[in-house]
Amino acid sequence: MAPSGEAFRDHVRAILAEELPADWKGLGAIEDRAEADAFVESWRETMLRRGLLGIQWPVEYGGAGLTKLEQIILVEECARAGVPFMGYSDTFGLKMLANILLYFGTETQKQRFLPPTLNGEIRWCQGFSEPGSGSDLASLSTRAELDGDTWVLNGQKLWTTRAREANWIFVLARTNADAPKNRGISFLLVNMDQPGIEVRPIKAMSGESEFNEVFLNDVTTPAENVVGGVDNGWAVATTLLGFERGEEAATNPILFRAELDRLMALAAERGAARDPLIRQRLAELYIRVEIMRYLGDKIIAGVLAGDGRLGPEASISKLFWSEYHKDVANLALDILGPAGQIVEGRGLLRTYRYDDPGAPNTSGRWIGALYNATAGTIYAGTSQVQRNILAENVLGLPREPR
Ligand SMILES: Cc1cc2nc3c(=O)[nH]c(=O)nc-3n(C[C@H](O)[C@H](O)[C@H](O)COP(=O)(O)OP(=O)(O)OC[C@H]3O[C@@H](n4cnc5c(N)ncnc54)[C@H](O)[C@@H]3O)c2cc1C
Repeated sequence: MAPSGEAFRDHVRAILAEELPADWKGLGAIEDRAEADAFVESWRETMLRRGLLGIQWPVEYGGAGLTKLEQIILVEECARAGVPFMGYSDTFGLKMLANILLYFGTETQKQRFLPPTLNGEIRWCQGFSEPGSGSDLASLSTRAELDGDTWVLNGQKLWTTRAREANWIFVLARTNADAPKNRGISFLLVNMDQPGIEVRPIKAMSGESEFNEVFLNDVTTPAENVVGGVDNGWAVATTLLGFERGEEAATNPILFRAELDRLMALAAERGAARDPLIRQRLAELYIRVEIMRYLGDKIIAGVLAGDGRLGPEASISKLFWSEYHKDVANLALDILGPAGQIVEGRGLLRTYRYDDPGAPNTSGRWIGALYNATAGTIYAGTSQVQRNILAENVLGLPREPR
């Protein structure tokens, strides 16, 4: 059983010291893309072996039975050491689906899916969006029909991130065409290793193909693989989006602060820190990170005091961090000037995430960050959609006509 609180911090620090080479300079110091990706894969194995993955899960499903507070400490220490706190595909498995199963799953579903998700045997992707159903997700048209004790699914999903690396997909499908549109949807777990599934990569402007189209043609899954009850998928999906939008409210500011430190170093290095307008923008960004830190504390205090779910307030966090991040990347490119368009070093342009620890201060990294930051204002619900949610569900303003 892992220790809690500050003793847990010492525990994590000791593990990091044991597992990382003495001359470790952070993941960002690895120039070669393939080498960096291989490190992330092997680091995930290390985290698993040392009991640092899924630490908030109950011990019976492979977790450490700790709380959000220890998770925050873990993220802080990993950011300080320049290593990720989970693998690339874990966003869907550890962050989204596991939280959903812990909340809505049956005991059988928890036992069947949580341990293989933790050990990496099952890698998940998210089948929500469809052509014509993104912001208006409830209009989705993928169908699931029950044939005896098997669901049969037909339809198309779009923008499915990392679908080619995944072997299972969680899908929103219409199970009752007669019910109002958000009451006839179910949340289904589907094995991708079957003939009716076709995954086609989509090439993004960065040149990468992280997301995909997923076609479902008479795809099957057992009746028991519906989570949260038949026709109740909307409640499951909105809870999951709460986790996707707000789960990192308390840990993001730690990573944003590390990134802003790199930007301030860049401004000093390029002589831009003497420009009063650049100084103003840096100061404003610094203040916004501090606001996010307090907001994160408030959201997490609410989560710890409540049932663990995040309400519409998660949209405040999502809106704030995604717009902030676009401004950081734009400022970096203003500081770099035309050189910011050039991809330096070997390897392909990579879309750096704010949580890529220690991404170095070269031009290509910042334009990659801008691409990623722009996507951040779209995925998990666009900024406009977050404002609608806040207007209607938090501020209680009249609903937009539908
Ligand atoms: C990098 C990335 C990864 C993604 N990964 C996944 C994934 O793994 N799985 C998945 O299911 N989906 C994924 N998505 C899809 C994402 O959820 C959708 O792109 C998003 O919900 C927006 O839907 P849309 O693209 O259909 O745009 P639309 O809904 O067509 O919106 C177009 C524009 O209209 C605006 N708009 C729409 N409705 C309103 C309204 N009511 N009021 C005001 N403005 C409005 C939007 O804000 C937007 O600016 C990903 C997207 C990105 C960018």
